Amino acid sequence: MRSARKRRKLKGLGLSPNAMIVLEKRYLRKNDQGEPIETPEELFRRVAETIAEADGRYGATAEQVRETAEKFYDLMTSFDFVPNSPTLMNAGTELGQLSACFVLPVGDSLEEIFEAVKHAAKIHQSGGGTGFSFSRLRPEGDVVKSTNGVASGPVSFMTVFDSATDTVKQGGRRRGANMGILRVDHPDIEQFITCKHQNDRLTNFNISVAVTDKFMEAVEKDTDYDLVNPRTGERVKSLSARKVFEMIVRSAWKNGEPGIIFLDTINRFNPTPLAGEIESTNPCGEQPLLPYESCNLGSINLAHMVRDREIDFDRLRGVIRDAVHFLDNVIDVNIYALPQIREMTRANRKIGLGVMGFADLLIALGVPYNSVAAVETADRLMAFIQQESKAASARLGEVRGSFPNFKGSVYDPDAAETFPEDVRSTFGTFPAMRNATTTTIAPTGTISILAGCSSGVEPVFAITYVRKVLDGQELLEVHPLFQAVAKERGFYSEALMKRIAEKGTLADFEEVPEDVRKVFVTAHDVTPDWHIRIQAAFQKHTDNAVSKTINFPFSATAEDVRNAYSQAYRLGCKGLTIYRDGSREVQVLNIQKKP
Ligand code: ADP
Repeated sequence: MRSARKRRKLKGLGLSPNAMIVLEKRYLRKNDQGEPIETPEELFRRVAETIAEADGRYGATAEQVRETAEKFYDLMTSFDFVPNSPTLMNAGTELGQLSACFVLPVGDSLEEIFEAVKHAAKIHQSGGGTGFSFSRLRPEGDVVKSTNGVASGPVSFMTVFDSATDTVKQGGRRRGANMGILRVDHPDIEQFITCKHQNDRLTNFNISVAVTDKFMEAVEKDTDYDLVNPRTGERVKSLSARKVFEMIVRSAWKNGEPGIIFLDTINRFNPTPLAGEIESTNPCGEQPLLPYESCNLGSINLAHMVRDREIDFDRLRGVIRDAVHFLDNVIDVNIYALPQIREMTRANRKIGLGVMGFADLLIALGVPYNSVAAVETADRLMAFIQQESKAASARLGEVRGSFPNFKGSVYDPDAAETFPEDVRSTFGTFPAMRNATTTTIAPTGTISILAGCSSGVEPVFAITYVRKVLDGQELLEVHPLFQAVAKERGFYSEALMKRIAEKGTLADFEEVPEDVRKVFVTAHDVTPDWHIRIQAAFQKHTDNAVSKTINFPFSATAEDVRNAYSQAYRLGCKGLTIYRDGSREVQVLNIQKKP
């Protein structure tokens, strides 16, 4: 009843023009001529029905499965929750691959390396992104016994993965994305840090250095640390930790790469250490995974979780429950590209429920992003999502059984003494648990466009901006909440909106009341310190990691970047990605700025 009413009411789902374009280009199923053969409503129905089917495996009747499908349809078409892109694209299709995130192992033999290239190609074809640690590869110039030759080294092999990615388009919908990781104690680390200095190299890779606690201590104490050949386990040489840290900092300052991941922090928070060690994350860094593990993500639209200037926790609780149910079902109906991935993924059953529209929520609450109140909001909100998602997963665990690797995991009451206190309190101890992780904060690059909200936990990128449309026309876009306030308080004019678009920030507009300027901050108004504090507040209550870019002004110094890394490490972040405005020639998103 409820959804029939809703369907009538929706009539076209109220999608924005941008959302329609994205849907048509990337998500709707097409015939051989490239014409869409489904409507947006049919897309969401296809997804809802496919994902609901999993209930049947746990004893639900056909009628109950239909009810679940209705529930999932409402969940998505209200845009309270949207699953990651591959689920929308592939559910109910022949491909049937539903996860966004994968990590593949890369072994130190030609066969294993090219095996990984092949596996990555299969995953890219199905819409997923892949992360790799290249730390097991012997360094450049090392011996190769079989040919009496010399090894090419990790960076050289990364170019093979990069070219393969270039050639495999994802059914014309998007190009593959990779994360390349190298441990800081690998002998080729210096070459790795600078491998993207020419902007046209390794364009399908994000790169990150995996730093260890030992390394961070050596930086602190200004001592040398050892570089070890992974093939022999022997020390090759020592380097000054500060010198290498400085190299990372300078390179990131220069063009945003490499990022950093704090490998020991990640492994301290590995919920299933008996199943293996984590060595890499997915492409955008929010999902640390074991080799051959995959994860499906989904995000709650926080812009919808406000009522009378308060967070609507009751509504949020309901969405969390349904979203956990949805994401757990995805694991069962997913068609896996490789048997190893199926096995590993089903053994841990990780899901990544996150949020988008956080900045919109803050605006609706009247809280500036760069304030203690915002950090507290992030903390309170994510603590709630963590707690409720765990409760939902524990309930599913009681009914459907725990994830197979539960024994010895962080949740297992019998294994409690093997985990440090802070780790246990992040995850909790339960008699049963369905999913080894429940929370991840994804970038939501595309799905936030569908939902029409700000992406992930990032600040709003621009309050007003001019979008160039295909035929050369210019379209003025104004943040809906800003438009509403501007009209209500009488300072709206198209001319003003255009001038704001040119500037990219409200900071100097005296005609905009001060309290409004304070609340409508953009990524560029927020100093790195606040960016990191928000990231850390979310990380505190997130099983996996948080996708976040720490924006710096063009004028920032290397010292500023160095301090940001230290701050992030101290605050328990699992990694950090920085970007200094204007430091790359080609910026994906551009604010229209007057010179
Ligand atoms: P979406 O909004 O499309 O669901 P996100 O921007 O939240 O995706 O990204 C989530 C994850 O999806 C990334 O970390 C990555 O693993 C994967 N991903 C994103 N974009 C791509 C891409 N172009 N190719 C392959 N994988 C991608």
